[in-house]
Amino acid sequence: MKQSHLFTKTRREAPKDEVSKNAQLLIRAGYIHKEMAGVYDFLPLGLRTFEKVLNVIREEMNKIGGVELHLSALQNPETWAKTDRWSDENVDAWFKTKLKNGAELGLGFTHEEPLTALMTEQISSYKDLPVYAYQFQSKFRNEERAKSGLMRTREFVMKDLYSFSKDEAEHTKFYEQSSDAYGRVFERVGLGDTTFKTFASGGSFSKYSHEFQTVCDAGEDTIYIDDERKLALNKEVYDDPQVYEATGLVKENLREAKSVEVGNIFTLGTRFSEALGLSYKNEAGESVPVFMGSYGIGPARLMAVVAELLSDDKGLVWPESIAPFRVHLVELPSDNEEVSKEAAELYRELTEAGIEVLWDDREARAGEKFADSDLFGIPLRVVVSEKTLAAGKFECVERASGHTTHKSISELIGHLTA
Ligand code: ATP
Ligand code: MG
Repeated sequence: MKQSHLFTKTRREAPKDEVSKNAQLLIRAGYIHKEMAGVYDFLPLGLRTFEKVLNVIREEMNKIGGVELHLSALQNPETWAKTDRWSDENVDAWFKTKLKNGAELGLGFTHEEPLTALMTEQISSYKDLPVYAYQFQSKFRNEERAKSGLMRTREFVMKDLYSFSKDEAEHTKFYEQSSDAYGRVFERVGLGDTTFKTFASGGSFSKYSHEFQTVCDAGEDTIYIDDERKLALNKEVYDDPQVYEATGLVKENLREAKSVEVGNIFTLGTRFSEALGLSYKNEAGESVPVFMGSYGIGPARLMAVVAELLSDDKGLVWPESIAPFRVHLVELPSDNEEVSKEAAELYRELTEAGIEVLWDDREARAGEKFADSDLFGIPLRVVVSEKTLAAGKFECVERASGHTTHKSISELIGHLTA
């Protein structure tokens, strides 16, 4: 992409009404726009990063047998009444609206109910199980506080996967697989070292559920970490003696840290299947309720945590896996036409080699270009100038480390496609 086509502007100063670091950086870099408190738009660079995050998650969900679908955001109250989750007393997050005839509708804050109801048409025999269905879809939640930028918004896309199994044993196998898949997702987006599988309270069916918590000062949660075992407890279970028995963790050895929940996995058992009539015939011909689990990740929250943790005083720093582009090709101003020609040639060759390049082809001062480049956080900056033209090699600067090398076109392509 040519930067002259990118309509977004960078800003030197963060907007005054924005207190969270991730939103300040992402707004300054032109990745997102604040619509109102807790509601953000994704601009082209932000969308590219967001979609990279989705793809990492999608690949890992597909690997464990997940099948993607897309459910509606508008929700039928009748379905939710069956599980007692329509009333505002039971669920305080609903955004509700009305049809012209006065009938109520809701904007989905999660999707256990509609998917379980839908599955009654697909699942009837043990031969139809297990099923692992997931989506990336907007959730609407009337969150009380919305001061954490993309970490807590009132409209956000969630990856939510729901598992439908014959029994607890089949469920547990998948639960472990999904836990491993989550570990791979956080590793791939650069949060492997800072994210801890965390025991949380489990609800009616299982004693514990698991959260994936990333250590971060801007977090709203507190966890207690065993660094050696790379496990943690959340506040709900920290004072419960049974959790120490179950996990072998020792209270005195745990370190307290502020954190952000980037994902969670939950055993639902038969709560939803019984309420919504989702059962199957087993091999003996008996009717048995389907055993369920749910598995959520917030991709924008993930992006926000990466922005918080991996940035520096100059701006964003993306890992290659989720950067909007791999290379920022910065063409410096020059009276020599050859500089522009060289930049165009490099852009063409890199693009043909399948490398995603943002080419700063604008007429602007070098200082402005470098400041924008730092703010964007694209992993490799390649500078084309009169100096590099004379040297026959481009200056290549890694954004994260500042490490600088000089490479010819073929050396650069070799390096990037190795
Ligand atoms: P929290 O305790 O932080 O409110 P939650 O328990 O409500 O999270 P879930 O309903 O299980 O979260 O949602 C699954 C995932 O969706 C979370 O792990 C998180 O990554 C993301 N998520 C939840 N709420 C929000 C939000 N308001 N904005 C952005 N992402 C969110
Ligand atoms: Mg919540």
